[in-house]
Amino acid sequence: MRTITQNEKETLDLGRNFAQKLKGGEVLALFGDLGAGKTTFAKGIATGLGISKTITSPTFNIMKVYPINNKAIKQLVHIDAYRLASSLDAEEIGLVELMADPSNIFIVEWPENIWDLLKERASIINFKFMDDSKREIRI
Ligand code: ADP
Ligand code: MG
Repeated sequence: MRTITQNEKETLDLGRNFAQKLKGGEVLALFGDLGAGKTTFAKGIATGLGISKTITSPTFNIMKVYPINNKAIKQLVHIDAYRLASSLDAEEIGLVELMADPSNIFIVEWPENIWDLLKERASIINFKFMDDSKREIRI
């Protein structure tokens, strides 16, 4: 599916709607340049999963974990792999164990940096900057 969102709110809404399809155990690889809308989409997913806490970009912490009040889905794990040099770094922060848990939803920004760990499992979502307010999103 290819969508062009016209503003930030449309990307948030797209993420919120997308979240309704999640069952638990999904690994979502969000590809795209800085400012392409990855974190905005992740915020929409978090809202759709019923997380009221504000999602902020995990760039400086690499990983943030948000609890979810849902029968099947217990946690949203939001990773920004921008600062990870390799999959080895990701293994050190316990990512493999977290990813093996089917009650977690994984969202990974800059998935190319740890692609060996993700490639078997990931659903790819591509973000592209078109102009100041337009973004192309391919799910
Ligand atoms: P990334 O995580 O890919 O670096 P962000 O989601 O953090 O990107 O930032 C996207 C920026 O672009 C935000 O400042 C947002 O307000 C702006 N923006 C403008 N139009 C859109 C759009 N259609 N979708 C998402 N963000 C948009
Ligand atoms: Mg981001």
